[in-house]
Amino acid sequence: MKQPYLLPDISQPGKIGCSLPALDVPPAALPPEELLRTELELPEVSEMELVRYFTALSRLNYGVDTGFYPLGSCTMKYNPKWHEDIAKFPGFTSIHPYQATETAQGALRLMFDLQALLTEITGMGVTSLAPMAGAQGELASLLMVKAYHHSRSNMMRRKILVPDTAHGTNPATASMCGFEINTVPSDSEGNLDMKRLESMMNEQVAALSLTIPSTLGLFDPQIITIGQLVHDKGGLLYGDGANLNSLLGKVKFGDLGFDCVQLNLHKTFSTPHGGGGPGSGPICAKPYLADFMPTPLVVNKAGKYSFTSPPKSIGRLGAAYGNFGVMVKAYAYIRSLGAAGLKEVSEGAVTSANYLKEKLKADYHLPYNRTCMHEVVFSGKRQKAKGAAILDIAKRLLDYGFHPPTIYFPLVVEEALMIEPTETESKKTLDAFIETMKEIAREVTEDLEALHTAPHNTSVRRLDEVTAARQPDLRWEVKSQRPG
Ligand SMILES: *Cc1c(COP(=O)(O)O)cnc(C)c1O
Repeated sequence: MKQPYLLPDISQPGKIGCSLPALDVPPAALPPEELLRTELELPEVSEMELVRYFTALSRLNYGVDTGFYPLGSCTMKYNPKWHEDIAKFPGFTSIHPYQATETAQGALRLMFDLQALLTEITGMGVTSLAPMAGAQGELASLLMVKAYHHSRSNMMRRKILVPDTAHGTNPATASMCGFEINTVPSDSEGNLDMKRLESMMNEQVAALSLTIPSTLGLFDPQIITIGQLVHDKGGLLYGDGANLNSLLGKVKFGDLGFDCVQLNLHKTFSTPHGGGGPGSGPICAKPYLADFMPTPLVVNKAGKYSFTSPPKSIGRLGAAYGNFGVMVKAYAYIRSLGAAGLKEVSEGAVTSANYLKEKLKADYHLPYNRTCMHEVVFSGKRQKAKGAAILDIAKRLLDYGFHPPTIYFPLVVEEALMIEPTETESKKTLDAFIETMKEIAREVTEDLEALHTAPHNTSVRRLDEVTAARQPDLRWEVKSQRPG
């Protein structure tokens, strides 16, 4: 791939990227001298060079709009562009978070209706749209769990049980709430180990935090019994519903015994995930938790919509009421698909994942050989034994034009490869991916070097991902880049 123009390379003293008209108003006084810079080292380029520079940079991006992006646990699916347009309607974008609610009745109605739709979809009693990420919804849910137990003068419940397959945010948010975390192991089928759960569940446990389907992409058929076991000992069942792509329109959390659950609108409901936001992680809870819900909830009193704070609310999660634009897209998505369409989403997602599973299980080890839900987890341990780590395989996929699936997660699978194809990909794309995965499996035997040195045709090779995440280098700086 051709390198983009580098600004320092094309910079020439005296070039300028814009032309200002002659001054036809009296010049204003400059700020005091100590606030002024005499030297400002910026690349000096023409307007066209600048346009080409940014256009070249934009082409380096890989996104779900440019290719297959089967990132397990993240639901990178196609999101209708029409929903972006709807979120941009002036009536939605020109309102201010703090304007009087009487003057924003349409927006509040949308929020009120979305609360009701999500309540219906999850089979719970009440929904708050306030959380702005999945992890924040988790945090809010566990704060509610805590508030619920405290309201019943039950201060002894200080533990949260978390399965060993859980997403990292689950133990992290429990710990932020001051809970002690006890890990429940999975059994050989990938389900929760019931014997261990039974022995761990006692009067000190505030809640079991459970993801269903689990991050192994499996639906735990013991779920009803799990709920009973937890409730019998006075605990609550909290669900991580970040990925609803297999349950949507099919199964309701409320019917499975969950007391509260968080959803990620920025995975399942028409907002792209990734890039750090904006997100929306609403929580849906059973009626007995309604008093603890985050502030605000939208209510309808005699035809007038307004915000309210539940009597024992855990409080606010941000300055206003969440990411409104994401709510608009979720609302548009649900309303345009309707109940039948939502069912089809789940059916398509599950079919795609199982298709990949069946086609690839001869080439890659499948630790849990059973029907999966919206994602399938393979293990690259056979390839590892031949000298190719799952990281090499992921990097090699880039050469073939695919974004790699999630790797090394969930932690309970050695050399994990977690593929989530989603319902929005065609059979043709899935087949191309399958062929490539088979080709890479052949390369492991025939051309290991190609894997060890991959990727070969991307603009950058293997990156120091930890430093990239912790100390992102996002700005052009004179010293670091100008030659000499
Ligand atoms: C994505 C995800 C989360 C966290 O959601 P964020 O919006 O990134 O905070 C939590 N749990 C699971 C299972 C997820 O896939």
